[in-house]
Amino acid sequence: MSLDGARKPGAPDGRPDQAIAHANGGSTVQVLQNGASAAPPTYLTHRLRLNPNSDHRPDNYEDLDLEFSPSIFSSLERYLPPNLLQQARDVKVDYMREILRRYYPESERVRLQKHREYRQKIISNYQEKRSITAPSLSSQRLHLELYSMHPTNFFVPSFLKAINENTEQAFRNIMSEPSPGIFTFEMLQPRFCEMLLAEVKNFEKWVHETKFRIMRPNTMNKYGVVLDDFGMETMLEKLMVDFIRPISKVFFPGVGGSNLDTHHGFVLEYGIDRDVDLGFHVDDSEVTLNVCVSRQFSGGELFFRGVRCDKHVNTETHSEEIFDYSHVPGRAVLHCGRHRHGARATTSGKRINLVLWCRSSVFRESRKYQKDFSSWCAECQHEKKERQRLSVAAIKMVF
Ligand SMILES: [Zn+2]
Repeated sequence: MSLDGARKPGAPDGRPDQAIAHANGGSTVQVLQNGASAAPPTYLTHRLRLNPNSDHRPDNYEDLDLEFSPSIFSSLERYLPPNLLQQARDVKVDYMREILRRYYPESERVRLQKHREYRQKIISNYQEKRSITAPSLSSQRLHLELYSMHPTNFFVPSFLKAINENTEQAFRNIMSEPSPGIFTFEMLQPRFCEMLLAEVKNFEKWVHETKFRIMRPNTMNKYGVVLDDFGMETMLEKLMVDFIRPISKVFFPGVGGSNLDTHHGFVLEYGIDRDVDLGFHVDDSEVTLNVCVSRQFSGGELFFRGVRCDKHVNTETHSEEIFDYSHVPGRAVLHCGRHRHGARATTSGKRINLVLWCRSSVFRESRKYQKDFSSWCAECQHEKKERQRLSVAAIKMVF
């Protein structure tokens, strides 16, 4: 399936007339396309269990200099075969590393290393101190506050209260679920939104002045910036772990919502002189958080068309899956990354959205051993029911 084949929407109400695109962020874990490398170990010798050992306390890997993030190791550990759980940390590291390397062929690892260097270069240039030699350059972070997590300054009180209570009922109290699997709730304070907009503008000015080459958030957008690339990675990691994962654990357990361990955070810009719309696609994420941070725009509605696995991504939409959503500033939309969607044209003003793609290495790994995704793919579910109906019919024939 093409990663670059963003198709214009046009016919979002029925069957997509071309292959659906995968909006794919270039920065972190991706869906495996290249398969395992030729060398052993193989899936037969090195694989994870489908269900975690929830009593097990994972080791801490923070102090090791590994090519993959320490949090990925901690999150994978509960899924190791039982005989490995009590082994020394380096034995577990070796085993998990082999599994992770299957995700990343050599070329992908080189690309990731280059991306880390690129990110470091931006961060060391776009920083806290104004350049002495060229004081007019906007080489300075505008709102330092944005670069670390300040919950009471970022979030509205109702959202914070629900997170602190951390129960399904508390989440339900602040949410609406206008269509199955799509949750919306008040989240960001207006002041946070203004600061973020100003910071993005400041960063873009710096990019323009320094002629720095920047990478766009994914293969489908020509505008927008990756927030992780210019210093907000730690803040966004906290946003995922402390605020989005507790909610996802309750509402998206079947698609890795309890094990979100990596993220890709960016802003998208829509308007007459920006990206106008966004074609029908699925995200390269398990759970997507999308919050509108601008106020002056019209149009730009999201259209949703049902959750599908890879195999069924181009199948028809059922009427009950059709749902359109108009953005409200500061209000979040949370949905499964496999929920097919797109954005209609922003017809006036500028619409800017903060998007956080949350990913689960464990879910991606376990998905490889499975063929039936009837717990979340509507088409797999339909096929399963059909198989059951046929077998019941066959039994009736016998009698
Ligand atoms: Zn399916």
